[in-house]
Amino acid sequence: MILAFDIGGSRIRAGLWDGHVLERLGEAETPARSLDAFAAVVGGYAAGRTLKGLALSVPGVVDPETGTGKVANIPCIDGLALGPELAERLGLPVLVLNDADCFALAEARRGAGRGHRNVFGIILGTGVGGGLVIDGRLVTGAGGHAGEWGHGPVVCEPWALPCGCGQVGCLDTIGGARGMERLHLARTGESLHTREIVGRWRDGEPAASATMELWRDLVSGPLAMVVNTVGATAVPVGGGLSNDAALIGWLDQAVRDRVLRRPEGALVVPAVCGADAGILGAAQAGEQAWGG
Ligand SMILES: [Zn+2]
Repeated sequence: MILAFDIGGSRIRAGLWDGHVLERLGEAETPARSLDAFAAVVGGYAAGRTLKGLALSVPGVVDPETGTGKVANIPCIDGLALGPELAERLGLPVLVLNDADCFALAEARRGAGRGHRNVFGIILGTGVGGGLVIDGRLVTGAGGHAGEWGHGPVVCEPWALPCGCGQVGCLDTIGGARGMERLHLARTGESLHTREIVGRWRDGEPAASATMELWRDLVSGPLAMVVNTVGATAVPVGGGLSNDAALIGWLDQAVRDRVLRRPEGALVVPAVCGADAGILGAAQAGEQAWGG
C-alpha cells in the first residue's frame, strides 16, 4: 500500500493506493505555519497501516537532487527537504513531488493519456504549468523543472509582460485564466473575468473573439513546439480552463495544425482524473519508485 497526499494551500487530501484502486481517506486543514503540526497530520493517516511509503503532491517545485521544495503558500515546508524530514520523523520512505508532475503522471497512467507512451500534461489554471511522462515514467529533470513550459520569453511586444520568474514575455503571463484577462485588458482597456471573455467569444462578440484568437495563437505555438520536442501523443489539460471542453477542442485544432506529426484524433484533451489527480499521481510516482 502507498499512502498518497494532495497537499494544497488550505486542504490536505489523503488516499490509499493498493496498485489498482484508490481509497479516499478524507481531508484535513493544511497546517501552514507549523512543521510539527504538518507532520502530525500526515503521520496520523499513516498510523496503524502497513505501507511501502508516503507520496506527497505539493504546490511547488521540488529539486530531485536535494529534495528541497519551493512551496511559497505553505511556509512551514517552504525551502525544506520535506521528504527526508518526514522520512526521519515517520520511519518510512517519503517521496515529495510537484503537483503538475503528479497531474501528468495520473493522466498518463490512469487518465486521458492512458495507452500513450509519451504524455505532456498541462495545467491551464490561474497560470500555466506542466509535467512530462516519457515511456510511462515521470521525468522531473534538472531542478525538478522538466515540463515547466510556462517560463522563458516567447511572447513578443506588444503583449510581452513581466513574469514572476524575473523574465519578460513568459507564457505564464498570458496563458492561464489571469493571463487571458491581462491580454483582453491590454488589447481593449476592458477588465473582464475569463468567464465573461469566453462567454462573449462564444456569442461571437468581436472584441472578445479577437482576444481569444490572440490567446490561442500565443498558446498553441509554444505547445506545438513542446509536443514536437518530447514526442507526446497526448496532452491532457487540467486547471480551470479545462472545464470548458469546447475551448480545449478549439485549442486542440490550432495545436494539431502546428505540430509536425498530425494525429488523426484529438491531441489536446480535457483531463479526466479531476480532483483525484494529485493523490493518484503521487501514488503512481510511489509505485514508480518502490514498485507496484
Ligand atoms: Zn516566467
